[in-house]
Amino acid sequence: MSTTLSLTEPIARKVHRCSWCGEIIPVKTRYSRWVGIFEGDFQSNKMHLECHKAQQKYTESWDDGLYTPHEHKRGSTHEKWCSCEECRRNSLKSLDSSESIVKDM
Ligand SMILES: [Zn+2]
Ligand SMILES: [Zn+2]
Repeated sequence: MSTTLSLTEPIARKVHRCSWCGEIIPVKTRYSRWVGIFEGDFQSNKMHLECHKAQQKYTESWDDGLYTPHEHKRGSTHEKWCSCEECRRNSLKSLDSSESIVKDM
């Protein structure tokens, strides 16, 4: 069970790490900031806007709202290692736009 105390969309004044995908939220970008109580602990989560949407979609289908941080694709409810048809299509799309291709070591 989690209780939301505040949910805002501030502009980042310093670099944050997205709780959903583990990628960097750069300075001067709008992000989603959740502050609340999760299982008795005070917590704050920062996420890309698209990741927050994905997280909401994800928790709608799971009552406890539990998820593993940093292990999802950005803006997607799928985990990083998922290779379903939808994910393969999306990864082809992002290769096309050649935005930021991270090389596998
Ligand atoms: Zn993210
Ligand atoms: Zn997938």
